[in-house]
Amino acid sequence: MASLRIGTLRIDLVTEIRHRMMPLGFLFNDLTRAEAERNFDWLGPEFIDRESLDVGMAFQAFVIRAHGRTILVDTCNGNHKQRPTAPWQHDLRAHDFMRSLAGLGLAPGDIDMVLCTHLHCDHVGWNTRLVDGRWVPTFPNARYVMNRAEYDHYAARFATEESTAVNHGAFEDSVLPVVNAGLADFVDADHRVLHEIEEEVFLRPSPGHSFGHCCIYARAGQAEAIVTGDLVHHPIQFDLPDLHMRADLDPDLAVQSRRRVMEYCAGSGAFLLAGHIPFWSMAQVEAKGSAFRLAI
Ligand SMILES: [Zn+2]
Repeated sequence: MASLRIGTLRIDLVTEIRHRMMPLGFLFNDLTRAEAERNFDWLGPEFIDRESLDVGMAFQAFVIRAHGRTILVDTCNGNHKQRPTAPWQHDLRAHDFMRSLAGLGLAPGDIDMVLCTHLHCDHVGWNTRLVDGRWVPTFPNARYVMNRAEYDHYAARFATEESTAVNHGAFEDSVLPVVNAGLADFVDADHRVLHEIEEEVFLRPSPGHSFGHCCIYARAGQAEAIVTGDLVHHPIQFDLPDLHMRADLDPDLAVQSRRRVMEYCAGSGAFLLAGHIPFWSMAQVEAKGSAFRLAI
């Protein structure tokens, strides 16, 4: 599913990398072969390789259109970003992300708001683009909305560490330029960005993967969808929600946040939107014993 209508609200997938196999250790260091094998019946080799256990991922964003507003949630890796410490996203020169936006009838100037679930390098990349050797905001008419705690955490690190050590350089080339252009709004982790009678879009804290990670809730009447950022990276985490993800800042807190959102989705029927999951990026969730499954 690449498009979702809930009530009067529309959500579309924006794709930068539709599918890519990554080494298992990129996501999980403690997944056992037995745990992987028990998921082979529902996860094809495009999700997990039978021999190497390499995992299939995507890099995608979402556009929420509600009440005349156009909100882009997360901005993937971006082009020309120098990431020698992350070769898979180093100096990309692809046009898929902007073409995907254009396919939805959207030019950069049409985006009213950019919301970041968190400030990792694969979620802020298209915040900026390279023009005449300078990083400039890609979406000149947008307010870039970030959780203040997340920003402050990285700003403090940026003040004392090498710039390349702070999210592989993304804080310097993809966050600071929009702040310096006066386009950033720093908000609380439960901030409401749209509040109409029938439509709401708001942040909710889901810390653990990063210090101030938030999910983005879009609600129209009784229907709801949740953009989950890096709360979920792979569908095997529905069967194994307690699995630690390699890059989690606080893995146990991340597990608590993941279980809380999955439980909420299973109980409410809310769609769980996961930009890193290929093919099943928008799906409902069901409880399965003490774990979950995707309703696909
Ligand atoms: Zn990510």
